[in-house]
Amino acid sequence: MKLLFASSNEHKIAEIKAILPNGIQLISLKEIHFYDEIPETADTIEGNAIQKATFLAEKMNIPCFADDTGLVIPGLNGEPGVFSARYAGPQRNADDNMNLVLEKLSDEHDRSAYFITVIALYINHKVQVFEGKVEGKIGRDKRGSNGFGYDPIFRPDHSDKTFAEMSSEEKNGMSHRAQALEKMIDYLKRIG
Ligand code: IMP
Repeated sequence: MKLLFASSNEHKIAEIKAILPNGIQLISLKEIHFYDEIPETADTIEGNAIQKATFLAEKMNIPCFADDTGLVIPGLNGEPGVFSARYAGPQRNADDNMNLVLEKLSDEHDRSAYFITVIALYINHKVQVFEGKVEGKIGRDKRGSNGFGYDPIFRPDHSDKTFAEMSSEEKNGMSHRAQALEKMIDYLKRIG
């Protein structure tokens, strides 16, 4: 089975390809020479995932899935949440975003946080959603150079490493994205 993935984020593509079983082949936007903007204007993570998957599946007429992720920090009233990508501005820069989180949390005792991923799968003219969540803490500084986005400041519970200090196998063994993906894989196996 071939599934189009509605993202050009190479980090996400690599993480997902490492998890998908042999029977499911991820087709990237690059492979189909799709370089247009994909709308992402909903006000929830789930809404954005559904919007991206539906837009692309209807345009290209093939089964498609999209992932939308947010870092939620209760001590910052849920920020950056749905605004995770552009938290520090439209430049969508990971360092700027992390610096802003560290600055806003500097006087905050509650450093708990979680990543949430919603995967929307558009197949057979309907959408299914799958969710993954990992709880952890925001560190006092950036640690590690693997992964992407907020990985250097996020340490999952029961680990002494940030996601950016982990190998891709370690991150994939517990991540929000991996959990959502495993649920999508189970669903695809069930519908054959
Ligand atoms: P989106 O799902 O591509 O919209 O991602 C929203 C924001 O969260 C972006 O700033 C990403 O870099 C960041 N992000 C998404 N997934 C991860 C992850 O697995 N680790 C760290 N940051 C992530």
